[in-house]
Amino acid sequence: MNSEPLSKAETESLIASARESRDHAFVVRSGHKIGAAILTTSDEVFGGCNTEAYITGLGTCAERSAVDHAVAHGKYNFRAVVTVDSELTYPCGACLQYLLQFYQISGEDIYIIVADLSGNSEIKSLMECLPYGYLTKSNLEKLRDYESAKHTSRG
Ligand SMILES: [Zn+2]
Repeated sequence: MNSEPLSKAETESLIASARESRDHAFVVRSGHKIGAAILTTSDEVFGGCNTEAYITGLGTCAERSAVDHAVAHGKYNFRAVVTVDSELTYPCGACLQYLLQFYQISGEDIYIIVADLSGNSEIKSLMECLPYGYLTKSNLEKLRDYESAKHTSRG
């Protein structure tokens, strides 16, 4: 990891945000609520929750919901993602792969934190969780255009 470790306060606030989002999970099929929150490199936090649908294949994971929430606010550079479930649950492969394209914007690894409802948590990095993920070799310039230093606003 080349990015600065999260402080205890940052970790706790991220977990609290994920727990709050978890309460809003739309789980009409499984009833299994998961919350997530993402911390941007500009120290903003965006929550996410899982959503389900009666039509198979629709709906999304809490982690991708948190990423998309940040993107909708013009944020593309991330330090950490937390997942909150009733037990310690790591993000699925699809979410890790989704995060990997944001990793490719800055080249800074992203912390992956998992927490349960009893106060237990673990921390790893995206590279530890998905060491052989697909990294695009094309369109890298377009991707890096979203680096916060370069990104202002796009019309
Ligand atoms: Zn997922």
